[in-house]
Order: sequence, then C-alpha cells, then structure tokens
Amino acid sequence: MTHVSSLPIKDFMTATVATVAPDTPLLDVTTKMHTSRLSCIVVVENDLPIAVLTERDMTRLASQLLGGGEPPNLRDVMSPGLITLNVGASCNEAVELAHEKRIRRMVIVDDDGKLAGVATQSDLLRAHAQDLEFQKDNLELAVTERTIELHEVNQRLMELTRIDPMLGIGNRRSMDEELVKIAERARRYGRPYSVALVDVDSFKKFNDNYGHQLGDNALVEVAKALKSSVRSADSVYRYGGEEFLVILPEVGVDGAAIAAEHMRVAVEALQIEHKYADKGILTASFGVAEEILDSPNIIEIIKRADDALYVAKSSGRNRVSKADGNPDLEDVA
Ligand code: GH3
Ligand code: MG
Ligand code: MG
Repeated sequence: MTHVSSLPIKDFMTATVATVAPDTPLLDVTTKMHTSRLSCIVVVENDLPIAVLTERDMTRLASQLLGGGEPPNLRDVMSPGLITLNVGASCNEAVELAHEKRIRRMVIVDDDGKLAGVATQSDLLRAHAQDLEFQKDNLELAVTERTIELHEVNQRLMELTRIDPMLGIGNRRSMDEELVKIAERARRYGRPYSVALVDVDSFKKFNDNYGHQLGDNALVEVAKALKSSVRSADSVYRYGGEEFLVILPEVGVDGAAIAAEHMRVAVEALQIEHKYADKGILTASFGVAEEILDSPNIIEIIKRADDALYVAKSSGRNRVSKADGNPDLEDVA
C-alpha cells in the first residue's frame, strides 16, 4: 500500500523561491518580503542556500530595533547552520526532519547543494492529505476485492451444501428446493412434470460380496449413467443410499417412462458384474409418476413414484413401472 514515505518531496515543495544575497541591505530584504507578501526568503551565496529568513525573524529584528538596538546587518539576523534536505528525499523524511529539528520551512537542495525549493508545513500537509486519499482508495479496492472473494466463497459453500460429495450430483436439500420450484410452476402455470425414483437392485448383496469400496465406485458409475442418459433440463439427485430421484420437467408419465427406460438401459450398459443378481450384472428399478396439476403435491408425487417402484421391484426388478393417476380423482370418475 502506498503511503507518505514513498511520495517524493519534489512533487510537493514550492520550487519557485524568493532569494537574496547575504550582503543585501536589511531594508531591501524587508521591503521585498513586504511588497511580495513573502512569508520567507532564502539567503543564497554562490548559488548555495545558507539561511532562511522568516516573518518571525523579521519580527524579532523589528523588536530589536524598536528597543533601540544597533541596526544589524543581514548576516547577524541569519541563524547559522542551515539544515537542508536533498530533492530526492521523500515527504516522510521531510516530515521527520522538520519534526526533529523543529523546522517550519525546509530548504530543499539538489545534489550539488544548490537551492531546489522550499517545503512548507502546508506542502507537507498536502502530501499527507494525498497519502490519506491513496490509502482510502487502496482500502476501498481491498474491501471490494475481499467482498468479491467472499461472495465467491459463499457461492462455493452454497454449492457444496447442495451437492453429494461422493456422487457429485444434487443432494436431498437441492432436490427439495427444485421440487418446490417445479411444483409451484405446475400450480401457477399448469406446467406438467414427472419424477422417476430409482433404486439399485440387490445392492446389499453387491456390498456384501464385493465390498463397500466397490459399492461406492458402482454408485458413482450409476449416477453418471443416469445423468448422461437424460435431457439437460432433467436433474438427477441422490435421494439417499442407493436411491436416486430424477425430476423431469414438461413431461407426463409416458414420457417419464421412456426417459426411465433409457436410464435403465444405461445402467445395464455399465456391465458392472453382480454375480448374485438375476442378470449377473448391476441393474436398477424405476418408478415414475406425473404431477396431478389440479393439486400439485411433492410428497404425494414421490409417494406414487415409490409405490410404482415397489411394483417394479416386486415384479422382478430391472424394470420401469408407471404410477397410477390420482386415485381420488379416479374414484370420483
Ligand atoms: P432391492 O433390490 O430391494 O433394492 O435390494 P437392496 O439390497 O438394494 O436394498 P436394501 O435397501 O436392502 O439395501 C440397500 C443397500 O445399499 C444397503 C446399503 O448398505 C447400501 N448402500 C446405501 N448407500 C450406500 C453407499 O453410499 N455406498 C455403498 N457401498 N453402499 C450403500
Ligand atoms: Mg433402497
Ligand atoms: Mg436397492
């Protein structure tokens, strides 16, 4: 971060300085200071600054004269041992030197010791104000950057809380959120949708025979197969354990059954060995249900998909079963 120490004094000093030679009559000096409204004047001898005369020096001189003292010459008024600062110095060095030596007007010289300018207290104040401005800008920038970073981290965290870490697909939480949204769309705009409940067949036996690690690997493969065999508008979630739920917007139960059949074939196509399953490979069963637009209800639609899944299981597994329509409506009909 930029701060006062890095600001060069030459950018803040007053470069145009009134000067006088040491043998100038005092009256001429005071007249020059008065008429040109100078608060200080630098005494220069052979181009080298040797003293600074300030209004305060002049007041001292006046009181000396009024007190009846001898009129002094310029050399008597000048304080010896002028402290100067090189033009290459920083504002911070100027501030420190001014503070340490109690100097109000800092004479700035070039590398040859020749007068380059004068840094007054107001010059140093200006540097300080600019430095504060820099710091403020930098701080604002840092805060903006941090805010963006924080936002990104939050986004990432939000994503993490919605994704199953093992399978890299949406978890129950994101599934619930999506179901609420799609059911609302069905209720408001009459848009149809279906769900497919997926359960890997005889998976307990798979784990028992091949071990939990191979079981995990198989689930990862199944999740990928499900995802890649549905449309991009469809979304696959881990419902729990070896069960998945697929949301299929804009399709009725027949369309959902077709999509589920694609998924079923995709799981079969993985050809994951499962000696103790009927087909000798890992398979999955599917229950599909369509939302009833008259009374959308996410608990009901999942229950009907689950009932259909039960039918698929009990009628031999590795198959797709469609849910009945709304039983109440059928009763009425
Ligand atoms: P069904 O065909 O009737 O569905 O039989 P199933 O054996 O698949 O059903 P069950 O509910 O008896 O067993 C499910 C098994 O899935 C038991 C459980 O250990 C296993 N399982 C659930 N989640 C995971 C997981 O993340 N990794 C592994 N390796 N196994 C899991
Ligand atoms: Mg199960
Ligand atoms: Mg199962």
